[in-house]
Amino acid sequence: MIEQNITVTHDTRAIWLILNEDQLLSPNSPELLLNCQWQELKFAHAYKEQIVKIGEYQGLSCFLIDMGKENIDPQDLIQTNLRALLNECSDQFFGIAARAWQVALFMRTHRFCGQCGCSMQQIDWEMAVQCSRCQHRCYPRISPCIIVAIRHQGSILLAQGKSQQARDMHSILAGFVESGETLEQAVHREVMEEVGVKIKNLRYISSQPWPFPHALMMGYLADYDSGDIKVDGKEILRADWFDINQLPNIPPKLSIAGQLIEKTIIEIQHEST
Ligand SMILES: [Zn+2]
Repeated sequence: MIEQNITVTHDTRAIWLILNEDQLLSPNSPELLLNCQWQELKFAHAYKEQIVKIGEYQGLSCFLIDMGKENIDPQDLIQTNLRALLNECSDQFFGIAARAWQVALFMRTHRFCGQCGCSMQQIDWEMAVQCSRCQHRCYPRISPCIIVAIRHQGSILLAQGKSQQARDMHSILAGFVESGETLEQAVHREVMEEVGVKIKNLRYISSQPWPFPHALMMGYLADYDSGDIKVDGKEILRADWFDINQLPNIPPKLSIAGQLIEKTIIEIQHEST
């Protein structure tokens, strides 16, 4: 639960997650932690009334300050794109930064009531905003997504989507769950739609919140059953079976995609010994 009754004084020491558009402001150090007293953040003082507590990290409170699109001069701080953080920080810190980003996005996109158009106000007992006139309440959006690593003997199915083309990245298949669908139905449908193959032996492994922009990824492993790969050419540009000893550029291990690929490799190696 998020505490919204926040009293910040000049000597409050905390970890400050300051967002400027989709950039996190951090000191130029490997930890990227802006751990200091409030009085040291003079450039952010105009935002004192909008501070949101989003959790704890290393025993300290973490506060979000969303500066939106303001053009600021952050003095000694660097700006790091949230996706780039994936390669630079621990998964615990990425978790809290991802939460900050999702809360900021929620506040930015829920300033007015979707029912009557009045202004929304943050309520102080949970992470939500409520309409000042009709009491309509909104919570941060979470979009369920499935992601699945499919194996066939010593190979894994990897695909390249449009967004991965520039980075020449290949990954496993993923997609949003549709209304009225179970997670398992969504996995079978997505795989059939994107690459035209049937899968079997579906096993749930783990989940990961993914803040681009507000997905909750639910990760599965599966075995190939039947059919030839046929990509849709829209979402997926190419897909193929890759021998685990000759993999292309794949997502980092901090992402659930990277973890499911690694788990598949370990399963294959384990069976071949
Ligand atoms: Zn309303």
